[in-house]
Amino acid sequence: VDSSVPDSADAGLAETGSETRTVSSELIAKEVARRRTFGIISHPDAGKTTLTEKLLLFSGAIQLAGTVKGRKSGRHATSDWMEIEKQRGISVASSVMQFEYRDHVVNLLDTPGHQDFSEDTYRVLTAVDSALMVIDAAKGVEEQTIKLLNVCRMRNTPIVTFMNKLDRETRDPLELLDEVESVLKIECAPVTWPIGMGKNFRGVYHLLRDEIMLFAPGSEKADQTFEIVKGIDNPKLVEMFPLEIEQLKMEVELVHGASHPFDLDAFLAGTRTPVFFGSAINNFGVREILNALLDWAQPPRERDATVRAVQPTETPFSGFVFKIQANMDPAHRDRIAFLRVCSGRFERGMKVKHLRLNREIKVSSVVTFMASSREQVEEAYAGDIIGLPNHGNMQIGDSFSEGELLQFTGIPYFAPEFFRSVRLRNPLKIKQLQKGLQQLGEEGAIQVFKPINSSDMVLGGVGVLQFEVVASRLMNEYGVDAVFEGTSISTARWISCDDKKKLAEFEKSSAGHNLAHDAAGNLAYLATSGVNLRLTQERWPDIVFHETREHA
Ligand code: GDP
Repeated sequence: VDSSVPDSADAGLAETGSETRTVSSELIAKEVARRRTFGIISHPDAGKTTLTEKLLLFSGAIQLAGTVKGRKSGRHATSDWMEIEKQRGISVASSVMQFEYRDHVVNLLDTPGHQDFSEDTYRVLTAVDSALMVIDAAKGVEEQTIKLLNVCRMRNTPIVTFMNKLDRETRDPLELLDEVESVLKIECAPVTWPIGMGKNFRGVYHLLRDEIMLFAPGSEKADQTFEIVKGIDNPKLVEMFPLEIEQLKMEVELVHGASHPFDLDAFLAGTRTPVFFGSAINNFGVREILNALLDWAQPPRERDATVRAVQPTETPFSGFVFKIQANMDPAHRDRIAFLRVCSGRFERGMKVKHLRLNREIKVSSVVTFMASSREQVEEAYAGDIIGLPNHGNMQIGDSFSEGELLQFTGIPYFAPEFFRSVRLRNPLKIKQLQKGLQQLGEEGAIQVFKPINSSDMVLGGVGVLQFEVVASRLMNEYGVDAVFEGTSISTARWISCDDKKKLAEFEKSSAGHNLAHDAAGNLAYLATSGVNLRLTQERWPDIVFHETREHA
């Protein structure tokens, strides 16, 4: 772990009096305009890590590819606490990467997959302004991509699509577009089109620029350029690959006729995605997607803060916490709260208001996330992510400002898909267990349900690693040795109903046995199966079953 990270947990938070700052609004407007904040959504093994490395290469942040890989070499499927610590230390450092490219400041937020998959993965997407969707062109649309895209849709996040691994035998490109349109319900606007695939991959044709970029395998260098041939009718092409060029012309005609043209407004509305083909491992087509994100995706936009919309260019600072990562260092119980700046200029040492606690704090130690190391932040603007070390006084969804009562919205909790019941090895520790789960639940590490009909507690998560982390944290932070066991619950939905009488009826019915309260006191229905959920929904048409709930 980087030594510049403050070691005393609450070092950054000291109560202070107030003082005024003068910040130039022109400077803020300029800084906001050059920021782009995005995340990569993909199914494991589609090439996210490889692509991230290549993107960092362009910025000069790393000299040679291979740096990001370190975090993947270990496995999380171990209950050894130190091992998790080590892994998490690495994954925190690479969970937000900031780099400069073409005079833009790019914030790339990692969306952990594999066993790492947790609610954080979803919530990260509430902090981005656009997303890059990576699809393995041999496999097409996969499960995790569907889930993540659904989260993007909640905020109409603009999506750029990269079809990866064209250096391998892939599926038919037209079929891939069809699948994206039908499964993900987003229109495709191909921007580049592949010429051949696998051993016969020749390059891509840029539909907007009418030029062909010739494929050359194996680039580890940032300054790699690929040869460009202007015009699809260029006789040079017939000489170079007579077979593929005929095929390309046919396909391009088809694509022009059958698919959607690129449209900036539709892209920004999140309804149409520009599609690029390439090969991440060969660095081929990667610069094009980075350019697309800089040219087409917007700088930070306004955010809803309940009482009003906050503009990124306003001079007072504001932001919200979208993720909390615990126990960076086993010697201390510090947690890093990831805060997305929404407006103004953040400066180290400034005083900000923690709105839920109604407390003014001085933020003197903050971590930023550069591509290669964690460093101290001196300043940050809308779109940037800063890490606030804290002792547990920050929760998912907490808003910060220079005093105004803002509550940023759109930071949801997601219906868990995995459940465990908790058993104590030492029953005398029940109080500590309850306290621990309450706090971990509030923090957003896990969801805690108390079934109406029993004294047991049920834990819910969207990934299994969440249980492992919670078990370790209960042990380390609360001295509780808890055993998690499987349950018969398979899915959960939050319940609401405008008709109080109907709701009471529902609670008294046999379905009412499956009701529980979450940590914030909301009513949830714990279904034993998808069929059980569907039947209950059919039986109770007046009850609304929600897959997400907003942070209270
Ligand atoms: P992640 O799980 O999405 O982060 O995927 P990785 O970046 O780790 O890639 C998964 C595997 O696919 C690795 O073995 C990569 O080397 C490989 N891979 C990534 N991009 C390409 C590509 O363009 N072509 C080929 N053939 N393999 C690739």
